[in-house]
Amino acid sequence: MQQEKGVFVLSLDTELAWGSFDLELYEKLKNDFENTRYCIARLIELLCKYKIKATFALVGHLMLDRCSEKNGIRHKEIIRPKFSWYNKDWFSEDPSSSIQEAPHWYGTDILMQIREAQPKHEIACHSFCHIIYGDPGCSEECAESDIAAAVETAKIHGINLTTFIFPRNSEGHKALLKKYGFIAYRGNGNEWYSTFKNNKLKKICHFVDEMLSISPKTSKLQADEYGLYNTTGNMLYLSRQGIRKIIPISSRIRKAKKGIRRAIERGEVFHMWFHPFNLASDPEGLLKGLEKIFAYVRMKIDSGQLINYTINELCEKQSGAVAVNVGILNENRGVTSQA
Ligand SMILES: [Zn+2]
Ligand SMILES: [Zn+2]
Repeated sequence: MQQEKGVFVLSLDTELAWGSFDLELYEKLKNDFENTRYCIARLIELLCKYKIKATFALVGHLMLDRCSEKNGIRHKEIIRPKFSWYNKDWFSEDPSSSIQEAPHWYGTDILMQIREAQPKHEIACHSFCHIIYGDPGCSEECAESDIAAAVETAKIHGINLTTFIFPRNSEGHKALLKKYGFIAYRGNGNEWYSTFKNNKLKKICHFVDEMLSISPKTSKLQADEYGLYNTTGNMLYLSRQGIRKIIPISSRIRKAKKGIRRAIERGEVFHMWFHPFNLASDPEGLLKGLEKIFAYVRMKIDSGQLINYTINELCEKQSGAVAVNVGILNENRGVTSQA
């Protein structure tokens, strides 16, 4: 079989305050949210400079510029989850105001900035309000109300969502993704420590792994039993929050370069991801690190060894290969299961 080129995929979980309010982290991260718009603007500049396309997965609520209570209830259409760690109403922190008054909860300006950027990035879905899909507290009805709201809100902007990124990478309710027209999602990482049961041990291994810049795995696009494509996230570009500060930026760069080289050697995909708001933990350092990675990606693309796709493009270009591997997909869109 002919050797395929390596592929570089970058996905960005764009959520502002929605990703951490339920962990009571809002106050702690407020400053980071304040600086997130600056970081996103700089990130978009870098992507433009090195002509790299990314998949920006937005929390659907960020596609609003305002919202308000109806009969004293916020987002009545969303069936509430029942999570063990959060017994308040899921929208209790929602300011129910506007982007001018509460910019950490709305993001139409960010959406516009991404859509106007060059090269053309993919807009994907990171749920409507960051509900944790794989948790037992998220019922089928809850997930469906969330997906429906995300799809509808995107439609108002003329966006047809086809890629889903699960909040906290917690996979669940995949049949609903298919029902609402999604084609792909980012699957859980395949790090060597990912199957360890003990969370503390996992954290320690992750830390050591980052310190030593152990090569990330790479992967091939997979099709799952729902007829959806799964592109595994291979490397989280780590923030510099807390103890992560100890890990030098150079370790992150070295690690990413190893992933890129491995993708080239194997003709596989290297899928890097992070949350743009995490750049605010050390904007200059982390952006400088990203620039080194992007420059390396560009150099490998220009020398004909690597190609860069959004997740949607990856599915379009490689669906043929997946169909041969797995044998359950149709020619182009891959949304027909033959079960
Ligand atoms: Zn709201
Ligand atoms: Zn998230």
